[in-house]
Amino acid sequence: MKIEIHCLECFQNNVQIGKPYRNISLSEIRDDGVYHNKCPQGHETTTILDSLKFEVLFDIGMNAICDGYNREAISSFSASLERFYETYIRYRMNVDKPGSPISSIWKAVSNQSERQLGAFIFIYATQHGVPPALLPSDSKTTFSANFRNNVIHKGYIPSKQEALIYAEGIYSLLQRYIQEIEASDIDQFIEFYRSQLPSRRKSTPAQNNFITSTKAFSMTLLRNETRMPDFDYIKAQFYL
Ligand SMILES: [Zn+2]
Repeated sequence: MKIEIHCLECFQNNVQIGKPYRNISLSEIRDDGVYHNKCPQGHETTTILDSLKFEVLFDIGMNAICDGYNREAISSFSASLERFYETYIRYRMNVDKPGSPISSIWKAVSNQSERQLGAFIFIYATQHGVPPALLPSDSKTTFSANFRNNVIHKGYIPSKQEALIYAEGIYSLLQRYIQEIEASDIDQFIEFYRSQLPSRRKSTPAQNNFITSTKAFSMTLLRNETRMPDFDYIKAQFYL
């Protein structure tokens, strides 16, 4: 996956003289979401992909399907779900137990996804009174932990159709969790979400910053009054 890097100064100059703007370069994706760029005219712009990891990883998965890397797509979607769990746990810890030392607590689970899943299940159940919907663990279907493990650990090469079924399953879980938050405490969640964004975490000077976000979905983008439209809409964003 590549990200479009724009030059703000060229863009503004071209708008003023009514010329089309074509000064776009492509950069490989970075972990910190911050892209410093100098255009051929020497203008400096910082582009910030202002999205959390679970959103970026979902985009990477969709792009991987577009490019024919279906195995890699499964890995990215799985990681997207795991990083959402982390965001959810950190959010609830932040809201329900202000001042809790979440960073040191997280260290106890940071290297083991099963521990993180356990924490998510208990924190979710405390909030909702029932356990959350999860990736089916023992199912023989494509949308299952069994399928994911076959791909990631046993070298199974999925088809594009299987990758899309898995993507839709992961998306439907994320959609469900996020729509539940939208129905209850979205303002608090968005406040926490914003505090975690690359533009907040990194001390980048505000001047000449170009802020962009992920393509599949983003907490800052409302479509038809939800942040999580149908999966057909998501596929259309990637011409799938
Ligand atoms: Zn420029």
